[in-house]
Amino acid sequence: MLPSSPHIETIAVHAGMEGVAAGGSHVPVIDLSTTNPLAGVGIGGDSYENLATGGELMPGQSAVYQRLWQPGVARFEDSLSALEGAEGTVAFSTGMAALSAVLMAAVAAGTPHIVALRPLYGGTDHVLATGLLGTRVTWVEPGGVAAAIQPDTGLVILESPANPTLEITDIRAIADAAGDVPVLVDNTFATPVLQRPIESGATLVLHSATKYLGGHGDVMGGTISGPAEWMVRLRQVRALTGGLLHPFAAYLLHRGLRTLPVRVRAQQETAGTVAGRLVGHRALARVLYPGLPGQDPQGLIGRQSAGAGSLVALDFAGGYDAAARFVEGCALITHAVSLGGVDSLVQHPASLTHRPVEASAKPGAGIVRISIGLEHADDLIADILQALDRVVPDAADASGAPALALRGA
Ligand SMILES: *Cc1c(COP(=O)(O)O)cnc(C)c1O
Repeated sequence: MLPSSPHIETIAVHAGMEGVAAGGSHVPVIDLSTTNPLAGVGIGGDSYENLATGGELMPGQSAVYQRLWQPGVARFEDSLSALEGAEGTVAFSTGMAALSAVLMAAVAAGTPHIVALRPLYGGTDHVLATGLLGTRVTWVEPGGVAAAIQPDTGLVILESPANPTLEITDIRAIADAAGDVPVLVDNTFATPVLQRPIESGATLVLHSATKYLGGHGDVMGGTISGPAEWMVRLRQVRALTGGLLHPFAAYLLHRGLRTLPVRVRAQQETAGTVAGRLVGHRALARVLYPGLPGQDPQGLIGRQSAGAGSLVALDFAGGYDAAARFVEGCALITHAVSLGGVDSLVQHPASLTHRPVEASAKPGAGIVRISIGLEHADDLIADILQALDRVVPDAADASGAPALALRGA
């Protein structure tokens, strides 16, 4: 049993575990059943009707079919709801399946117009820009939200910190500007350990659970957390379109949540050390990290979020060629997409994750994004410095400066 006002570490370890011990186990049992026995034709039909229209499993009813309800998925959802301070969560097979579901729900409600703030994850940008799911997008700067709202606007979408440049957006200000229109925040980078968007006025929170929530680079998933009535709509979309989370993936993600606070904080501390050490390196035009002085001009770290996170972007003075040489020169840090895992990854967003983004909104060709993992900071810094040496061969690292003081770390 959780205490009455548990701390986030305690929630992370214990939420979603109801009934596990009573069943004689210490961890949730992975139930792979695709179908579930029905006690009678009447109860079977009633259960189906309830679940296929987005209801939750009711006492005495059957889960019917894995696409409609899965107990391990529900455990993971309960745990994430507790962490995000949300009434509910609906989990999907990937972050993009979660985004697709919320867009389909907006279209189905007759509100297909989406107001979106760039930069966004490349896939999100692509699905909105193509209108593939029947949405229509207006791209805005933070100050342009109120003016962009139309009678059929269904959602305002933003990411903070944003992908890949790590700009921080004032969620409260956007929610105020959006009025009655629900604001969806992609909270993948911050995680509920650092930022709970609902507390800042957001209606819906999206995660690519593939990243920090899973945390080990071995499972994909996506979630939307928010008010109960939205969860009904999203469960119905999931039941009808089938983008559900597999029970084993749900198990891994639920397990990932148990260590989320310690991982996120340790990775963040290392990211602060790494970012501070790289400031002033002659190969770099800028080190982009919201914890560095001057990079959070609105002072949102400490207010909206508890820290700057563990993604660091480097902007190379030498543009694409320098960025490519750096990425290819990293040895300990793996050149691969994705982020938020125990091992550090580096990638070049303009050629990879943000390739489909239209030219005017694409991240600069000199920008490289590093997801800092759980390795020791000194080993990461050594790898980065040797890779930087390949960019400017005669550049003994010019900085040598002590790590800069970081706020909210
Ligand atoms: C990866 C990612 C997504 C998409 O999630 P998938 O699990 O890859 O489908 C969405 N938003 C952000 C910020 C991401 O990093």
